[in-house]
Amino acid sequence: MINTSKTERVLYASDVSIYEIIPCGVAFPKGPDEVRALLDIANRENVPLHPRGTGTSTVGQSLGNGISIDFSKHMNKIMHIDKDYVDVEPGITLGKLNSVLEKKGLFMPVDPSSMNMCSVGGMVSNNASGIHSFLYGDTKDHVLGLEGFWADGSFFSTIKGENIKNITEKLSKLHDKVQKLKSKLPLTKKNSSGYNIRDSFLSDGKIDLNKLLVGSEGSLCIITKLRLRVLELPKKRITLLSLFDDLEKGLEAVKLVRDIKGLSAIELFDEELISAGKEYFPELRDFFDNRAKAGLLFEIDGGAENFVEAQARELEKRLSSLAIKTEFGRSTEKRQWLWHMRRSAQSMLNRIHGSVQSLRFIDDVAVPSDSIMEFYKQEKKILDRYGLKTAFFGHIGLGNFHINPRIDTRAKDFMKTINAVSEETYALVKSLGGTFAAEHGDGILRQPYIKKFSPELHALFAEIKDIFDPKHILNSKDKIELRYGFTPKSNIKKEILDAVERCHGCNECIDFCTAFIKNGSEDEGCKARGRANLMRAIVRGSLDEKDMRTALHYIEACRLCGKCLTECPTGVNVMETASLLRESLILPLSLKKRFMMWLLRPLRSMLAKKINSAKADSVVNIDAYGTVIKLGLYYAPYTKDIINNAKNKNLKLTTSDKDLQKYLLNIHSL
Ligand SMILES: Cc1cc2nc3c(=O)[nH]c(=O)nc-3n(C[C@H](O)[C@H](O)[C@H](O)COP(=O)(O)OP(=O)(O)OC[C@H]3O[C@@H](n4cnc5c(N)ncnc54)[C@H](O)[C@@H]3O)c2cc1C
Ligand code: SF4
Ligand code: SF4
Repeated sequence: MINTSKTERVLYASDVSIYEIIPCGVAFPKGPDEVRALLDIANRENVPLHPRGTGTSTVGQSLGNGISIDFSKHMNKIMHIDKDYVDVEPGITLGKLNSVLEKKGLFMPVDPSSMNMCSVGGMVSNNASGIHSFLYGDTKDHVLGLEGFWADGSFFSTIKGENIKNITEKLSKLHDKVQKLKSKLPLTKKNSSGYNIRDSFLSDGKIDLNKLLVGSEGSLCIITKLRLRVLELPKKRITLLSLFDDLEKGLEAVKLVRDIKGLSAIELFDEELISAGKEYFPELRDFFDNRAKAGLLFEIDGGAENFVEAQARELEKRLSSLAIKTEFGRSTEKRQWLWHMRRSAQSMLNRIHGSVQSLRFIDDVAVPSDSIMEFYKQEKKILDRYGLKTAFFGHIGLGNFHINPRIDTRAKDFMKTINAVSEETYALVKSLGGTFAAEHGDGILRQPYIKKFSPELHALFAEIKDIFDPKHILNSKDKIELRYGFTPKSNIKKEILDAVERCHGCNECIDFCTAFIKNGSEDEGCKARGRANLMRAIVRGSLDEKDMRTALHYIEACRLCGKCLTECPTGVNVMETASLLRESLILPLSLKKRFMMWLLRPLRSMLAKKINSAKADSVVNIDAYGTVIKLGLYYAPYTKDIINNAKNKNLKLTTSDKDLQKYLLNIHSL
């Protein structure tokens, strides 16, 4: 029931944060009974439990030295769909849930940028919010009920009102204290720091337990079933993208349009993202002329076409004196195209090569809407003083900035810089009445700042934690290590080190990694992310020979399709890094095979890049790659998967080589 192999544990040692903590075991429960059994073990042996969705959090909240519980592998089903709610297990991704709901004309409207790769259990536990939270609110506004287990192993259900009296009675004793301390809370609409006392301790003395459990980051209970409110899909949606020649003009513009009716999203992105976008998506190059230094994306939702069109026109009119241009997206394709860059923004920033990483430590600040300009100007000064480059983007309609400064993680004192910048940024945020965790949670990184923000609130949160979990079984952390800045094994090439550090854990590979999709078992080790994590452990020297063999089994399961090279937002070339690593480790391969691998590696990457980045339905000549494809038949059988990608994109491959034509005909028609 609990897997304690080092290889498996390494796969659950990281998320998207700067931390790496190897759990003592990993469990994959198939249902509530197995979760209860884990709680029994935890209580008996005094071992912490760390519930986990898909591990896309940015501040380390799902990590720990105890037992990691992966809900995404088996507990990922939709249990029941009604006209205005859905019952689900916690491990399902929001992307999958919404694709099923869509067929019934419904949707769960809170849509984090990570929606395709994050679980709803993780969303609830972080009180995640999304691009459309401007209109629809955040996750807490859509949770109708939860079921699961308290820390002592007893079952509870806020859906059926079962086993909640004892807890609510204890919480009620804190009522007066809570009311007094509410004035110390951030003034922002969004906040995922600490426990949500604002919405859960009601003025009539009652406790709304759902609201308190949402955002508790796995520290108050373990959830096994969620009842979520769903809405009818808006009948009409228009997306608008306005470009500005100065970011401050963009911030100014937010004020002018906030009261437009039906406005569901206001998203900011800056010059850094525009240039990253132009590099990553060549089709954007013409659209963003050289004057564009910032952009705002808007969406207007409504039931009637006339209404939505009129609001969109009004928005365009109000921005006419500030924006360079405003583009309308009315069709689904055009709307998706306009959103594409913003959705990939956070990940795309990691497409920087070498040890300079775009790190998340002040990634989630929010200030009251009237203070966005003041915050931007002051924060820019702080970052300039430390010589840090960064992108500014985020859900600006609700005052939420995502800031991921670039830091050299191999510099000796990089943690010192992180701490100093965090201190100054959080002091600024506090002075403006803001929060340092609007939607990504406190995790490990921001825990210390809760006390600095308000010692009284911190003490109150500790009291609440003790009511739910007096033995601190749930999500307590012990030894914390950093994922970056380690000393690699001496014979490791720089390219390998760069690649394993570049994977930031976003989990986007669940949508493209051929090995993971074909395996169909939701195995973490089969993802490109799993391979990158295992390779990091090897480079770090964390695995002994036996574990290394299991790790290599996962690494070798790579289908060499080359998709990570073109589809991974940070361009991690897992396929070639694995080959390089094998060579570095001088594994028992014949001289001939090693020579062939050396010869094939760069050619295979070039072929993958050519096919994966070709436009769908186009004609691609592959004469230049004849040798690599033919040799691939003998030495890298899965070169076939690269060719299969062409089939999926409906590419017409042409070649004058007769043998190659025969080979391709076997796979699909030329
Ligand atoms: C590229 C990118 C973009 C992102 N964009 C956004 C965004 O727009 N908005 C946003 O809010 N966040 C965003 N995030 C952060 C993150 O993806 C979300 O907060 C997401 O909801 C986390 O879900 P998860 O499944 O990865 O949770 P995990 O990271 O696995 O876990 C999150 C927390 O939930 C707890 N937990 C998980 N399952 C359970 C359970 N069954 N019972 C009890 N506790 C549980 C864990 O212990 C942990 O504390 C982004 C992240 C990335 C990498
Ligand atoms: S391999 Fe790429 S897509 Fe997968 S987790 Fe790493 S960075 Fe994200
Ligand atoms: S090359 Fe390997 S790791 Fe990369 S996407 Fe294909 S199967 Fe996954």
